[in-house]
Amino acid sequence: MTARMTRLAVALVLVLAHAALAAAQGAAPIRYTLSFPAPQTHYVEVSAQVPTGGQTAIELMMPVWTPGSYLVREFERHVEEVTASGNGRMLAVMKPAKNRWRVTTGGAPTVTVTYRVYAREMTVRTNWIDAEFASLNGAPTFMTLADLAPRPHEVIINLPAAWDTSITGLPDLGGGTNRYVAANYDILVDSPILIGNPQVNEFTVDGKRHYLATIGGDDGIFDNAARAADAEKIVRENLRFWGGSLPYDKYVFLNVLSDTGSGGLEHLNSTLLIVNRWIDRTAAGRRSWLELASHEFFHVWNVKRLRPAELGPFKYEQENYTPSLWIAEGVTEYYSHLLLKRAGITTEAEFLNALSSEIELLQNTPGREVQSASLASMDAWIKYYRPDENSANVSVSYYTKGMVLGFLLDARIRETTDNARSLDDVMKQAYARYSGERGYTHEEFQQVAEQVAGTSLEAFWNSAIEGTEDLDYSEALEMFGLRFRRGLPSGRAWTGLITRNDNGRLLVSQVRRGTPGYEAGFNADDEILAIDDFRVRADQLANRLNSYGSGDRVTVLIARREQLRRIELTLGSEPPSEWRLEVAPASTETQNRARQEWLQA
Ligand SMILES: [Zn+2]
Repeated sequence: MTARMTRLAVALVLVLAHAALAAAQGAAPIRYTLSFPAPQTHYVEVSAQVPTGGQTAIELMMPVWTPGSYLVREFERHVEEVTASGNGRMLAVMKPAKNRWRVTTGGAPTVTVTYRVYAREMTVRTNWIDAEFASLNGAPTFMTLADLAPRPHEVIINLPAAWDTSITGLPDLGGGTNRYVAANYDILVDSPILIGNPQVNEFTVDGKRHYLATIGGDDGIFDNAARAADAEKIVRENLRFWGGSLPYDKYVFLNVLSDTGSGGLEHLNSTLLIVNRWIDRTAAGRRSWLELASHEFFHVWNVKRLRPAELGPFKYEQENYTPSLWIAEGVTEYYSHLLLKRAGITTEAEFLNALSSEIELLQNTPGREVQSASLASMDAWIKYYRPDENSANVSVSYYTKGMVLGFLLDARIRETTDNARSLDDVMKQAYARYSGERGYTHEEFQQVAEQVAGTSLEAFWNSAIEGTEDLDYSEALEMFGLRFRRGLPSGRAWTGLITRNDNGRLLVSQVRRGTPGYEAGFNADDEILAIDDFRVRADQLANRLNSYGSGDRVTVLIARREQLRRIELTLGSEPPSEWRLEVAPASTETQNRARQEWLQA
C-alpha cells in the first residue's frame, strides 16, 4: 500500500464516518421555497435555506441528468443569478464547475441561497412554467449539498393567485398545504410536482390512495374519471402480478395534455405523463394513453425497486452505464402490454398487434445486425437519446428489442418447464432477491432466469442478448400456436429511401443499408427533383413509382449540397409485411391452452 493510498483510505474513512454521523444525528434539512412572481415569463424563483455544518465554505451541485432518461442534459444551463447570504450579509458565490457553486459561509450556521430557473421545455425530464401551470422535476430545479449526505429536503410552494393547488408523490410536511418533505435528495429528484388547476380523480387499492391529476383536460377533452377507472384496473393487475402489497403510501399519475412532445417517466410513487391533447378522443389514442400508464406503473417494481446494480446510488454528475436497460425498459414494455390484456382492457388481437409492431420494427431495422441489446443499453447515453440519419443502420432500441426478448425468453422458459414456469416467475424471484439497496448485475438476472428455467440459458443469452444474430421466433410460435401472417407482395416499385416533404422539397431523410437507394449511392438530405427527366413534386413520389416495376432502371436527378447530379437506380420491389402475428389455423388444444395461460395468467 502506498502512502498516497493510505491517505486516501484515511480520508475515505473520515468521509464515511462523517456521513454516518450526519445520518445518525438526523442531519439538518435543506428548506426550499418556490415562488412564481411572473409565471408567464417561465421562471421559478428558488430560495434555499442550507445548513453549513459550521464549515467555512459549502459546495452545491445540480444533477446533469435525471434518472430514467439516460442522457446528460446539462440542467444547470437554465440556472441564473445565484446569490447567497448569511448572518445578515451577502456571501461570495463562485462557480468551480458547470453544475457546482461554492459559497463562502462567513461562519453562518445556515446560508440562504437564491436563484431562478428558466423553465420552458415541455418534456417529462425537464421543466415547464407558463401562466397556466408549472410542471417541475427535481433534477433541473433543486441544487443540493454536493456531499449528498442523507438529510431531509423540504419544499414550500407559494402559489400564484390564479393557481389552485400542487400535487406530487412527496409526503406532506404538515403545517398547511403545498408543503412537502423528501427524506433525502434521491426522493426529491424522484418526485415531480405539478402546480396549477388540475382535474383530480382518486381511487383506493390495497388501502392506498391513488390520484390521476390532469392539466389541460377541461371542456371534456379528457375524461379524467374514466381514465382513473382504467388506471385502477392497471394498478390492480400489477398488484395481482407482483403479489404482496403496494410498495408505497400513495401514488400519483401526473398527466399533462400538450400540443408538443409526449412521453412518460417513472418515479418511486408517481409518474409524469405528457401526452397529446386529443389523446382521449379516439379509441387508438385512449389505448396509447393506457399503454403509457401501464408501462410507467410496471416500473414501480421493475426499475424503481428492482434495478440494475449500476443505477444506484445515482452518480448525478456523470453517465451511469448499465447493460441491463433491455430488462429495465424492454421487459417493462412487454409486460405493459401483457398486463393490459390480462386486465381485460385490451383484446388478444390488440395485444398480438402491439407485439407484432415491435417485432416488425426490429426486423426492419438494419442496425439489429450491428448492435446487441446489452450494447444498446450501455450506449443509451450516446445513441438512443441522440438519434441521427444513420441510427437505423447502426443501432437498435433497447425498448423494442427488449420487448421482443421478453416475449422469446418467456416462451423459452415455458417450453423448458413444460409450461410450469414463465418470465413472470423470473421477475418475481428477481424482485424477491434483488429489490432493495444493491440491485442486480446482468449476470445475476441471467442466473435467476436459469434457476426458474431449470436449465442453462447461455446459448440464448449469447445469441439474443449479447449477440446480433437474427432472432429465432419458431419456438415461441410453436409454444403459443401462433404464426406470422405473410403479406402478399404489392408489386410496387421500391427505392427503400425514407423521404420527407420539407415545404415542397422532396428530401431524403434516411438511407437504410441493404435497400436499392443505399446500393445506388443516395445520401441523407439529397433533394429528389426528377425521375427520368420528369419533375417529381414532393407529394408525387409514390404515384410516380407506381408507373415503374421492380427491376426497372431509372435516372434520378437530385440536388446535393446545391449541385445537380444524376443517380442511376435499379428499383426493387416493396417488401411485403412479414411480421404480423396471428393464431395459427392448425393451433392445437395444448397450444391454445398455453396461449390462454400466457394471456390470462
Ligand atoms: Zn420506461
